[in-house]
Parts: sequence; structure tokens; C-alpha cells
Amino acid sequence: MNRTNKKKTIKVQVGNQFIGGDAEVLVQSMTNTPTEDPEATANQVRDLYDAGSEIVRITVNTREAAKQVPVIVSKLEKMGVEVPLVGDFHYNGHILLSEFPDCARLLAKYRVNPGNVGRGDKHDENFKSMIDCAIKWDKPVRIGVNWGSLDQDLLKRMMDENAALDEPQDAHEVLIEAIVESAVQSAKKAVEYGLAKDHIILSAKVSEVPDLIEVYRRLASRTDHALHLGLTEAGMAMKGIVASSAALSVLLFEGIGDTIRVSLTPEPGADRAKEVHVCQQILQSLKIRSFKPQVTACPGCGRTTSTVFQELAKEIEEHLSDRRKQWQELYPASKDLKVAVMGCIVNGPGESRHADIGISLPGTGEEPRAPVYVDGQHKTTLSGPNLASDFITLVDDYVKTSFSKSK
Ligand code: SF4
Repeated sequence: MNRTNKKKTIKVQVGNQFIGGDAEVLVQSMTNTPTEDPEATANQVRDLYDAGSEIVRITVNTREAAKQVPVIVSKLEKMGVEVPLVGDFHYNGHILLSEFPDCARLLAKYRVNPGNVGRGDKHDENFKSMIDCAIKWDKPVRIGVNWGSLDQDLLKRMMDENAALDEPQDAHEVLIEAIVESAVQSAKKAVEYGLAKDHIILSAKVSEVPDLIEVYRRLASRTDHALHLGLTEAGMAMKGIVASSAALSVLLFEGIGDTIRVSLTPEPGADRAKEVHVCQQILQSLKIRSFKPQVTACPGCGRTTSTVFQELAKEIEEHLSDRRKQWQELYPASKDLKVAVMGCIVNGPGESRHADIGISLPGTGEEPRAPVYVDGQHKTTLSGPNLASDFITLVDDYVKTSFSKSK
């Protein structure tokens, strides 16, 4: 699926992936294991990759972490995990990239935060040192601004300039502009230092949805660099998912964004890969990319006094999830499959006809029969205690006949 309105950006190669230009919007994620622990980090990278993360970032925050990068890369190679590994650097990136050449050589990209490379003269010196490393090892760089660590010298200068105006703008507007300028000016500096434009990706993350939309609209209008989207510190559970979806959807729908990450705060014991699933669901909901079959299910209402349809919807969802890997290999196009599970006659037949295969279950007072529709046509009517397994068999048959590779 292609967005015809997607903003044209400069394509950047990151390991075996491409960000920007005509490349698909990539899904990425970040580990939360200590990089000093290569076993735990490699295992989590593998889990994120298995979930569909196309780029994985790890923090490289200490000498020991930098030392372990080659060990992690080697473990991933042995596991057959071919995912570009990005190093996240703050404060000491210039030291670590110089002191640990294997780390610099093996990472697929460096994330540099211009707000965390030092103050005063040291700022440009340290930033240049990291860019020099990127040039030496032919690596792309994400210049990743974050409002929690915004370049304070730049912000102060812009605040002072604003204060000197006859009609100063409010401080929040200056802050938004400073976030954008930090990214744009840093990219210009990197180019001046010799880094090719097709080695630069930009991000400028904030934690409020309207601010993020504004920041990225400005960024997209001022540069051709590929853009990494993400709401920083999105939060936990539903709040994080909804806020990220709201922000990213507006921007993606406007054609802005070349790669996305959803920064969820994990609940204790929760699967880190959830952030990958949320990214995929955002892209699939917007019809930008397809990753897995989708189930359309009605919310149920007073017409569905039994839980049969909720149970069937859950069973179908789990079945599709269980079959996903197998179908990906045998029937790759099945990622576009649409299944409808509806609760009664009101919208059931109509919604089921819009799906590839759909079932309209009987609501309260209806006859205990469930018509099944395939490609818009009534195919059969199910009833009895095996209704769920009978429908699942029909779904399996549909995938085999409609999505086989020869078709
Ligand atoms: S399809 Fe029927 S059961 Fe489902 S929400 Fe609509 S009216 Fe209620």
C-alpha cells in the first residue's frame, strides 16, 4: 500500500533496511535490558525482531556497554537475527565511539541527541567527534532532539532574542521553535562537517500530542531529511497507546513520517514487544502497511445477551495469531485477510459482506443460526455446538484457496 501524499524525503540506508524516500514506513523499537548484559539484550532484540521490529535500538551508555556491542552482534548472528542495531548515545557518545571502534563499526546507526553532547565549546566539539565517527565508519545518524533534554544554550539564545522583540511570542511557542531549530541546525552542522545528507534522519520528540504534531509539521516543511516519529514518554498502557496513536496517525495521514516508534512504559512483567504490535496496528489501521489478518467485531449491545459472539471473536483472533507465522510463509498475502464476527442481524450481514469472510451470530430472540458470508456472498449457515470450530475451518479453507502463492 502506498500513500500518494507521502512527503518525499531523502532515503537513508540503515543496515539491511531503508528509511525515507520510497521505502515503506518502518517499525522500530528499543530494548530496556542493560546493554552490559549481552545475553539478556540479545534475547530481547531477538524477541522484538520476531515480533516485527525492523530496527532495534539499544542504549550504549557506558564503556562496558560499548564493549558488549560486538558480543551482542555475534549472538544475534548465531540466532539468525538480521536486524539493524542502533546505538543510543548521550553525554559520552564521542568518547565511546572513539574508544570502542568495534562498537562503532558494528552498529548500523548512531542516535545522537544534540542536547546531550556538552555545553559551550564542548557542544560542537563533541558533536563533530560523533559525526566524524559516522563518516569514518560510513554510518547514518539520527539526530534525535528531545524536549526533556533540549539544547539549553540554543533555547536560552532564542528566549533572549524573543524577549528583545517589540511583541514577544509566548514562551511555549519559542520552545516549540527551539525544538525544531535544534534538529534543523544540527543537521546543517553535520552536513558542514562532511556527513552526506543521505546519512541523516531527524526526530524531535515531545510528550504532548498537539505539540508533537506541530513540531513535525514544521520539521517536514523545512527539511527533506527522513523523519523518525514518536511521542516521547507516551506513558503506560491505554494512555500511552491512545496518545501515540492519536499523534502518529495525524502525521502519517498527512504524509509525514518514515519510521515510527511507540515509547510505552512497560507494565511490570509485560511483553516489551507490545510497542511493536502497536506500531504495526497504527500502520495497518491507516492502511499504510499490512502485517496480519484483521478481525472486525461489533462491540455487542443489549441484543447480545449471550457471550457467544465475544468468545468467538476472541477465539478467531487467537487462531489468526497462532496461524500467523505459518501463513506468512505459505500464504504471504493473507496479511490482508479481513474476518468479521458480528453479534446480530442489525449490522451482522452487512459488515460480514464487506469482509473476506464473516459470520453474523444470532442476537437475542433470533433463530440460533449464523449465516456465513464469503467474498460478499452468503456461503452457508452454521448452527449447533461446533459453530466456532466450523467457522474456523471455513476461515482456514478460505486462506488456503484465496491466498495461495500461485494465485
Ligand atoms: S451488530 Fe447487533 S449486536 Fe452488534 S452492536 Fe450492532 S446491534 Fe448490537
